[in-house]
Amino acid sequence: MDQHTIQNLAYLLAAVLFILGIKGLTHPRTAVRGNLTGSLGMLVAIVVTLCVADILAWWVIIAALIIGAAVGMIFALKVPMTGMPQMVALFNGFGGWASFLVAGAELSIALAAVAAATEGLEGEAAQAATNAIMNSQFVVAIAASGLIGSVTLLGSLVAGIKLVEKFTFRGKKYWTSDPILLPARNLINAGVAILCIVLAVLVVTDPTTSLWYWLLIICAAALGVLITIPIGGADMPVVIALLNSYSGLAACATGFVINNNVLIVAGSLVGASGLILTSIMCKAMNRSLANVMFATLGPAAGGPSADDVYEGKVKSTSADEIAMLFDTAQRVVIVPGYGMAVSQAQHAVRDLANLLESKGIAVEFGIHPVAGRMPGHMNVLLAEANIEYDKLLEMDQINPTLETVDVALVIGANDVVNPVAREEGSPISGMPIIDVDKCRTVVIIKRSLSPGFAGIPNPLFAADNTLMFFNDGKKAFTEMITAVKEAG
Ligand code: NDP
Repeated sequence: MDQHTIQNLAYLLAAVLFILGIKGLTHPRTAVRGNLTGSLGMLVAIVVTLCVADILAWWVIIAALIIGAAVGMIFALKVPMTGMPQMVALFNGFGGWASFLVAGAELSIALAAVAAATEGLEGEAAQAATNAIMNSQFVVAIAASGLIGSVTLLGSLVAGIKLVEKFTFRGKKYWTSDPILLPARNLINAGVAILCIVLAVLVVTDPTTSLWYWLLIICAAALGVLITIPIGGADMPVVIALLNSYSGLAACATGFVINNNVLIVAGSLVGASGLILTSIMCKAMNRSLANVMFATLGPAAGGPSADDVYEGKVKSTSADEIAMLFDTAQRVVIVPGYGMAVSQAQHAVRDLANLLESKGIAVEFGIHPVAGRMPGHMNVLLAEANIEYDKLLEMDQINPTLETVDVALVIGANDVVNPVAREEGSPISGMPIIDVDKCRTVVIIKRSLSPGFAGIPNPLFAADNTLMFFNDGKKAFTEMITAVKEAG
């Protein structure tokens, strides 16, 4: 067996491990094993590629591996659970960046090879020598890698900044998640997109210079910024999933540039799974992808103000009062949201659930697909606290049963339980929600009446059957545990 066959067999093994890894990630029970399987596939791919690579000196490869691994480890160890989506956005951006840099480097190498091969040649002979190096697969893949990679890098950076939500400058708070709406933005975006296509065509038809390629990178970077800035924070999960898919497509194109099969396979897998995730998330928000990308979502102009919605109607409660509600309750549902992640309340939540169950109360969890700041955010936190998977009911499972729930405990969730989503004309219209307002009593645990990610008031907080427990999530659950124990 020659080296090329062994290399491709190893790549095939890596591809199979990637696919088994993704399969494992489809269920919490097999997710850790799936992650390890995928990582093993990546290890096989890297080791085999390094063994056959003969372009770079070993010390350069090892130095790059050490620097890359160190940066990755620092990020992974330092990032809080709440900052994970920003990290994913950043990594998507790095993927796009790496793709267009590799394609650019290959273009420079090919241009040097063309210069050497055509020296002293003229006319058809020179053209034939150029075509042999700059074949159509190579140049089309370079243009695709540059275009998609650069859109991904800048789009992901903007998405990451938007997910940080707010930052303070000279004492003033700025909400970065607000949409930035340029006048005639659709026209500007269309113009820049057309310019990108023209430059991509020039990269393909005039492969005698790298000028068109680097102009394409700049233009695509501008497009990445322009298409991301008008998108509001509440749509960011979809955008991150889409950019994840783009980073895969850019890697796939780069695989065609350097003729590397495993990069083509891995890139296609990321591209396809990112698209599937995007479609699942659009469904969870009842929006089309076009609506997410081109319509703006944010606080509606002319919508009711917080004062209109809340004034004189909000009832606050305490841990002792809630403990009294549990005295007569048979079924309790806990609906977690982003605030549970912020307060790291998952262990206290589990302790209260266990305590209530020991008193004969049935406790379940209602999980919204976009609760928190990344897909599966709540599942990860509750799994970390060893809450059984069977108790985590998805929105479609729990919703038809909520009328029989005595007490709903909503911890740090806001948009995903906002009944305004059922009304026409609201910024989150049509987004499916967990219908906690149908429960007999709803207890909302959050620190204030401030809005959620979509930035709009929530009439649930002022509903007749709602009690507000203004507190930090973890502290609230700890106080409730004490109160239930004291009540006997
Ligand atoms: P929201 O962002 O709507 O609301 C979170 C609430 O948590 C806030 O109102 C806040 O209120 C409260 N909170 C914050 N810190 C604490 C704390 N320490 N203790 C108690 N409460 C706290 O969250 P949801 O989970 O309901 O909705 C998710 C939103 O994020 C949706 O709009 C979704 O589209 C968007 N999104 C989802 C992503 C995903 O993939 N899941 C990714 C990006 C965005 P207060 O400050 O008063 O305490």
